[in-house]
Amino acid sequence: MIIITRWGESMKRIAILGSTGSIGCQTLDIVMRNDDIQVMGLTAHTNIDLLEQQIHAVHPKVVAVMDKDKAAILKNRVGNQVQVLAGLDGLIEVAAFEGVDLVVTAVVGMIGIQPTVSAIKAGKDIALANKEALVTAGELIMNLVEQYQVQLLPVDSEHSAIFQCLNGENSRQINKVILTGSGGPFRGMKERDFSNITVEQALKHPTYSMGKKISIDSATLMNKGLEVIEASWLFHLKPSEIDVIIHPQSIIHSMIEFIDGSVMAQMGLPNMKVPIQYALFYPDRKPNSCKRLNLAEMSQLTFEEPDVTSFRCLQLAYHALEIGGTLPTVLNAANEYAVSKFLKQQLDFKNIPKIIEYAMERHKVTPITDVQNVLDTEKWTYELIESRW
Ligand code: NDP
Ligand code: MG
Repeated sequence: MIIITRWGESMKRIAILGSTGSIGCQTLDIVMRNDDIQVMGLTAHTNIDLLEQQIHAVHPKVVAVMDKDKAAILKNRVGNQVQVLAGLDGLIEVAAFEGVDLVVTAVVGMIGIQPTVSAIKAGKDIALANKEALVTAGELIMNLVEQYQVQLLPVDSEHSAIFQCLNGENSRQINKVILTGSGGPFRGMKERDFSNITVEQALKHPTYSMGKKISIDSATLMNKGLEVIEASWLFHLKPSEIDVIIHPQSIIHSMIEFIDGSVMAQMGLPNMKVPIQYALFYPDRKPNSCKRLNLAEMSQLTFEEPDVTSFRCLQLAYHALEIGGTLPTVLNAANEYAVSKFLKQQLDFKNIPKIIEYAMERHKVTPITDVQNVLDTEKWTYELIESRW
């Protein structure tokens, strides 16, 4: 339902799943600078202090906290100001909350699948940051998007770039898309030098400040691998139609090469607020106070091939996409497991691709039939890895 404000503009009502994270907070910042967007729902995992501040700032009607004990504490604190729900069921309910037009999926990991499905089935448009949902349940989600006639708007900067370049173009006339990546903090290093990498070093992304999991994914190049799979679903592309190029300055956010050889790129300073805002207000563009690109200040824009020998995650992702079925789920689940262990300092950085490869090699691929199938594959992967690592 679109409400018309007293200024005659349409008021968009949104819910943000993962509002306490990097994307969630930046989304709220945009919301607070615009008076034609209203927050109906928010969710967090454990960070109820920040969620409470957000409740006072934007007055949602409903919130959900994944951790049930924390949800109970928050309920005591906020009283009747807002409905407080708990657990995954709570997230699923916020995603489908009545009156919401668009759901920003900014939780991290496969936990986002069921809330995303719930939102689509309730007819909500999706601003998708949670790439793991599309990587693991892409076919199911894309079919539901088609069936329920909702919009799936990419937030990821590369996919937003492609989406923007496609404006007014015929997507059947794409020859290939070229995803750019910064190369992460270890660009130029060889695998043999990965032994003493610390969590702190791996979290230092050269051009973006992001949540911990995606920062590690950027350091291993798995983020680019997940983005290849994400792009294949969003834009109906085969693996051979998606190239990756390392562009350390992160100014070109991605490109399309059309069948006539013309290449279209989308550029800007690295700032997630721009793609978030584009998804929130699509098809409108809005002014903002983000710093502008000044090409004269850029000494150079450089490009190089990704080093797939030292950063094996990218090729593992291409392989998973090529084979399809349950294999991308195994790739993603094994990666989530390995990254979480690395962040707890229980695993060497160089073992992240080894764990993923270990699980992929032992998996008997089947087609994905429903969400339960994806969740069962995740469970299978965790059980396999836990018995060995
Ligand atoms: P963060 O880690 O900063 O935030 C994650 C959010 O999800 C937080 O609100 C967190 O709550 C919540 N959350 C974490 N685990 C769970 C769980 N098990 N159940 C329910 N909620 C949970 O992540 P980012 O914002 O960096 O990333 C979010 C998504 O967006 C990821 O899929 C990422 O790949 C994608 N993305 C992020 C970009 C970025 O610049 N950050 C760029 C492009 C894509 P709490 O705070 O309580 O822990
Ligand atoms: Mg990205």
